[in-house]
Amino acid sequence: MKGEPVVPPIVRSTTFRFEGSADLIDAVNHRTGYIYSRWDNPTVRETEKRLAAIEMFDESVAFASGMAAITTSILAHVKSGDHVAAMASYGETVRFLADFLPALGVATTRFAPDEADACRDLLHEGAALLFLESPMNPLLRILDVEELTATAHAKGTIVLLDATFASPVNLRPRRLGVDVALHSATKYLGGHHDVTAGFACCNAQTAHRIWMLRRMLGGVLDPAEAYLIWRGLQTLEVRVQRQNESAGRIACWLIDRPGVREVHYPGLASHPDHALAARQMSGFGGMISFELEADYEGTIRFMDRLRTIELATSLGGVTSLANQPVTNTHASMSEGERAEAGISDSLVRLSVGLEPVEVLQADLDRALEAVSP
Ligand code: PLP
Repeated sequence: MKGEPVVPPIVRSTTFRFEGSADLIDAVNHRTGYIYSRWDNPTVRETEKRLAAIEMFDESVAFASGMAAITTSILAHVKSGDHVAAMASYGETVRFLADFLPALGVATTRFAPDEADACRDLLHEGAALLFLESPMNPLLRILDVEELTATAHAKGTIVLLDATFASPVNLRPRRLGVDVALHSATKYLGGHHDVTAGFACCNAQTAHRIWMLRRMLGGVLDPAEAYLIWRGLQTLEVRVQRQNESAGRIACWLIDRPGVREVHYPGLASHPDHALAARQMSGFGGMISFELEADYEGTIRFMDRLRTIELATSLGGVTSLANQPVTNTHASMSEGERAEAGISDSLVRLSVGLEPVEVLQADLDRALEAVSP
């Protein structure tokens, strides 16, 4: 029969048979064939290659979650006695860096977005790894990735960047010199709130190192989930472009809404990193955060009035989602830590989906009416 499938088949087989031992031995020694799906699987490979092409890296390595991609990629590059420099805010990553790595003998120093000079000082002294996240959750601060990467590389430090909030559409980590671009594919890459996955995109040598540890730690992506990511990648660009556009319109509109104190969006001239974002990114993204003229309870009332916009954590999908960071994503931080990070009780984080902007504005307006008691 002639003809090939247009979409990749989901190969569920966990193991693969060989005609003879010579082929099996070659596959084991040189990764020339499929042996066992914790090592490699055809559907997962198809998706890894597709994302690598989009990210313009040689390779990508797929994981069962963004956190599996992040932790495995870091562990593949550190050993006891090393020092990690980090500018990151995602809670689970911060806990891994601050609580877990030191127990393995790896020291971590974290820097806030405005502490780039101190971070550079540490890099001049020498560090094993620089971990960056840009844009950063939830105030959408932007790091000068190219400049920090160049400083790190001057001392032979490898650079990992969590580019989840940007997606490959808005930021090109390879062009900025980054060694490993990390994604929680649960967000924009999957795009439909129906798959948990993560990827590390890098050159072939680095990918092999990360792949070896994935084999051992076992956090590999399931083939059916890999297919959903493959499908999500087909529409990534159009989705993100629309989300950029809608978020830009909503951010501008929110500035003048009664009940809104401040809007954080890198596309606004008032954002502290606007000029950097304009230079470094090709779009400002689909994430907005804003502060209400309200206390904790008033913000709860706002959240509870939203209808089209779902009260849910996560981001990057077709449905608009909102959360109040103090009640969930940043609930484990102390009051002092939140104050230091600029996260107030009245902060709302909005992930703009694909609904018409007018529908989202009407929903926000209705909820804003509930802000004053
Ligand atoms: N990095 C960022 C910036 C995130 O927002 C998240 C999840 O929210 C993760 C990493 C972790 O991804 P996952 O939930 O797929 O493990």
